[in-house]
Amino acid sequence: MPEIILAGAGVSPPEVQRLRVTVRGAVQGVGYRPFVYRLAAELALPGWVSNTAGGVFIEVEGTPQRLGEFLLRVQQERPPRAAVHSLEAVYLDPAGFTGFAIRESDAGGEKTVLILPDIAVCPDCLRELFDPADRRFRYPFINCTNCGPRFSIIEALPYDRPNTTMRRFALCDDCRAEYEDPRDRRFHAQPIACPVCGPRLALWDRDGRGREVGDAALRQAAVAIRAGAIVALKGLGGFQLLVDARSEEAVQRLRRLKHREEKPFALMYPSLELVRDHCRLSAVEAQLLQSPEAPIVLLRRRTPAAVAPGIAPGNPRLGIMLPYTPLHHLLMADLGFPIVATSGNLAEEPIVTDEHEALVRLGGMADLFLVHDRPIARHVDDSVARVVLDRPLLLRRARGYAPLPVPVPGAPLEDAPVLLAVGGHLKNTIALVTNGQAFVSQHIGTLETQPALEAFERVIVDFGRLYEARPDVVACDAHPDYLSTQFAERTGRRVVKVQHHYAHVLSCMAEHELAAPVLGVSWDGSGDGMDGTVWGGEFLQVTRDGFRRVASFRRFPLPGGEQAVQQPRRAAVGLLFTIFGDALFAMEELAPVVACSPTERQVLRQMLVRGVNTPWCSSVGRLFDVVAALLGLRQRCSFEGQAAMELEFLLDGVGTADAYDLPIVEDRSDGSALLQLDWEPLIRAILRDVRDGTPAPLISARFHNSLVEGIAAAARRAGEERVVLTGGCFQNAYLTERTVERLRQEGFRPYWHQRVPPNDGGLALGQIAAVLRAEAPRGVGVHSTCPPFDGPSNAGHMEATSEEG
Ligand SMILES: [Zn+2]
Ligand SMILES: [Zn+2]
Ligand SMILES: [Zn+2]
Repeated sequence: MPEIILAGAGVSPPEVQRLRVTVRGAVQGVGYRPFVYRLAAELALPGWVSNTAGGVFIEVEGTPQRLGEFLLRVQQERPPRAAVHSLEAVYLDPAGFTGFAIRESDAGGEKTVLILPDIAVCPDCLRELFDPADRRFRYPFINCTNCGPRFSIIEALPYDRPNTTMRRFALCDDCRAEYEDPRDRRFHAQPIACPVCGPRLALWDRDGRGREVGDAALRQAAVAIRAGAIVALKGLGGFQLLVDARSEEAVQRLRRLKHREEKPFALMYPSLELVRDHCRLSAVEAQLLQSPEAPIVLLRRRTPAAVAPGIAPGNPRLGIMLPYTPLHHLLMADLGFPIVATSGNLAEEPIVTDEHEALVRLGGMADLFLVHDRPIARHVDDSVARVVLDRPLLLRRARGYAPLPVPVPGAPLEDAPVLLAVGGHLKNTIALVTNGQAFVSQHIGTLETQPALEAFERVIVDFGRLYEARPDVVACDAHPDYLSTQFAERTGRRVVKVQHHYAHVLSCMAEHELAAPVLGVSWDGSGDGMDGTVWGGEFLQVTRDGFRRVASFRRFPLPGGEQAVQQPRRAAVGLLFTIFGDALFAMEELAPVVACSPTERQVLRQMLVRGVNTPWCSSVGRLFDVVAALLGLRQRCSFEGQAAMELEFLLDGVGTADAYDLPIVEDRSDGSALLQLDWEPLIRAILRDVRDGTPAPLISARFHNSLVEGIAAAARRAGEERVVLTGGCFQNAYLTERTVERLRQEGFRPYWHQRVPPNDGGLALGQIAAVLRAEAPRGVGVHSTCPPFDGPSNAGHMEATSEEG
């Protein structure tokens, strides 16, 4: 492969980028466009603003710093009568604007009726909620046209009250007068309600016996939490389990009952001020916490934090959200301290939405149930975000974001077939393309339990019904054992199997509206390589009509397959066996060897020698596991990605540019010219460092830096200017930030995820993009290529795979 020198290699100037902002809400006829114009002029940012039925669209170009300032101010300084229901921002390549234009209103707007996400309670309603003179004083279901439930109560379109779960509540005269008055803030507010006519709270014990109703129920629940009880709260999109976050005893009891050993718990704080006291908070993070989307944000804690150690053991960050429903506001105002607010489910099961089901499924966990009689139409978990390089990065896309459409490059025309993508196995989401827009579902979860699988099927039926779309083509992962893949094959539709890491790359490309060619760096725990091995450390060159695997990590065996995913010691033994052979099992100074009993060593040795149940992998996620095991950090995981997370935790405050050697060699073993990143020198250096007593944080930093250098070196060999960073490994902020900096220094243009998760939650979007790419040359929209619903499926015969075959 020719080595190419890119122009401008060296220190890169601040790069000009384009920021696109989509603002939905009451932003028409309130002076929003002139406001945007003035702000852009003040910051000297060229671009344009336009007003459509789908919202206000803004594009501006400038340095990242100026764009960041624009984005903060557009949210903070909006015109007084404007109410923002949703604001989505995405950074794209510059288009070369000169001057700033207010474009004429576009009457077309978005083609499909938009279902808005649930919106955090607005300042006006909040004022009324705490005003003793207001008729909705302390009413936990207060809302208006600018806030309140949407996605979680809609049962059908159009969005009218009879099509929501509010239909059972007949409006009282006062509410009706507001609903019908065009000058009222509640004009046509579909979920409008008040204490006279709307939903009511009740507090139940474990047997479903009523203890209190109305405000007394809420106050009693607060008393119980204060006393250390576990309260199950029927929230917006499902149940949450609440305990006092200051009480280690309550937190440990919740862990025991929820079968959640170590995975961090999310917290809800009563105020931004208290969050600031406990965590370091950037302007972007503060804005994100207070946004209408109100996600859980991973924040760096100040030490010592004033919450129980069992909340997030060993983790320098806390996942924190602010109250977003009136019910949460009332409860948090009564409590005045942070609480655990974790999803109401057993580990790996979907969140519970119905109060009677909650008694059964959460009965063993919760002491009390704070419930209400407004049905939840569908589950919607809390979203999770972190800020990377001053931009939000969604790790779980659900409440506040789903089901807003994501633009797909080359999206089909209105007469195109309907596409369904069923995602992967972990962190599953699905996506539906209809009328030229891609709707990515809310987070569903790992498809491991029967309830999770049922939730998955429910969401598919739900999306089809909401958008009145019957899929013609179903895209899925290429892994034959994924339940999502098996579901796709059962549909009888035409099935397109998409290689896992290719889907990751396409998902990130779709976010950035990038066309080929790009180099995709697709790193995660594991995905089916379609060549009998497990992939996970891939460099994929995306070409006009497919992809080519240009580089990967040297492979190593995983004795026990899936068991090796849960036990880093097994991955370590597998890798070390390829270096040391039988001698390994006598190396008692190695933590992963000591972590195995003599019998276990014997079993592992047999598996490795005979190759029984021992797949080979090129996974960076597993390499993280190996290093964590060598450092004695973790030999067994209680949740996915735990060892890698703990290696990242170690980095807090470590500053070093040192890296181990991670050479790229050419592997001709299978006749291809695949480049390989050889981990052996790196592993040998880590073994030396461990023996010499080098502090673990320093080893972790050197390991991370080697990966960054490995990406830079592979990018130089591939010679593509645009490099896309995707896959679960890029949830790691250190890895992402360092890689972006390093690639920029070398003159490359790096891209990373923003609104769609880098983890498997983003696969469905990538699968959609794969189908559109594969079919584009033949003309998407040719119905004759699709067999009828009941016809035979061609599972496995479609492409969207590697050119290498
Ligand atoms: Zn409101
Ligand atoms: Zn009323
Ligand atoms: Zn993946």
